[in-house]
Amino acid sequence: MEWRVPLFDPDLGETEIDALSGVIRSKWLTMGALTAEFERHFAERVGCAHALAVNSCTAALHLALMAADIGPGDDVICPSLTFVATANAIRYCGARPIFADVASLDDWNVSRATLEAVVTPATKAIIVMHYAGYPCDMTSICEFASARRLTVVEDAAHAPGANLGGRAVGNWGTFGCFSFFSNKNMTTAEGGMVTTDRDDLILRLRRLRSHGMTTLTLDRHKGHAFSYDVTDLGYNYRMSELNAALGLVQLAELGARNAQRRLLVEHYRSKLTGIPELSAPFESACGESAYHLMPVLLPKGCDRQSVMENLKAAGIQTSIHYRPIDTFTAYQDAGLGPSEHVPLTHEIGERVLTLPLYPALPAVEVDYVLDKLSGSLRAT
Ligand SMILES: *Cc1c(COP(=O)(O)O)cnc(C)c1O
Repeated sequence: MEWRVPLFDPDLGETEIDALSGVIRSKWLTMGALTAEFERHFAERVGCAHALAVNSCTAALHLALMAADIGPGDDVICPSLTFVATANAIRYCGARPIFADVASLDDWNVSRATLEAVVTPATKAIIVMHYAGYPCDMTSICEFASARRLTVVEDAAHAPGANLGGRAVGNWGTFGCFSFFSNKNMTTAEGGMVTTDRDDLILRLRRLRSHGMTTLTLDRHKGHAFSYDVTDLGYNYRMSELNAALGLVQLAELGARNAQRRLLVEHYRSKLTGIPELSAPFESACGESAYHLMPVLLPKGCDRQSVMENLKAAGIQTSIHYRPIDTFTAYQDAGLGPSEHVPLTHEIGERVLTLPLYPALPAVEVDYVLDKLSGSLRAT
């Protein structure tokens, strides 16, 4: 279906085409110099000592938890209002996800209080997720975590370029995990990144990314090494040079594109004040968002399905971020849901509607979307 206003639209052009052609002409397609350059630029951007490029944020989360020695018998707290990969990564390690609620109907992130409410003696780590790009209150969350010696992993899939008081998201926890999937603020088609300041952990992460091997194909190609040992049960989570070439171009544009997103979100917010039935979360947000999504809260009892159908008939694509993870069949079958600790998450899960947002979205189309949405609310 051709949407008049799609939910997202990746910004790709001649620069990306040239970057990809360059890689193909070089004939070195797998992890090499461009991946290393992308890692250096990304680490610098986040202000971390290290960044490790991987083939998804899901892989990034899994590696971070493995490097933190999370395993069977451990509990890891995470939000339920997030993409399922956040909690799946915990289960890959054999650990148990425990769901924490959002702070309020305005602040859709976990908070120190909602983490404290569910912490167990077996809790070893926390994954926070910066919903829609709005930073969690990391000062108080990190205080709580360090008092209890918990590892903090930031799922920053929505939040490249976001910061709190000038300190980048992904730089607060022991690990930051980023996604470059095609609908994120910057894309490499598929891809992800782990950031950390810890010299000991980056070595472990690097080995786990590539089968637990002690040398890389590139080292052997360059004659730096002839063989290798395998010291860990590792994975193949490597990024390719094609992805890294895209990442370098997209990273250079991230600031400008996030600024464009910000203007559109401000436009949405100014128009939303005229529609009393609707509210947008993060009215009182802390820090600078990456403005990844434009969610709104529909009125209680609203028939969301028919609102979405009406918008679809007007050529407007909408989505739901997210159905709470603890309500999914696979989680209930495993005895991990439903959770009684996340009532606000359940309410948001029923009332949230995500509206179109991408840097090239014309402001007049924002007006069109809100016009059709408020019309549909009055009719249903
Ligand atoms: C997209 C996303 C992921 C997964 O990213 P992939 O790169 O697709 O593995 C994880 N967490 C959140 C919050 C996401 O939005």
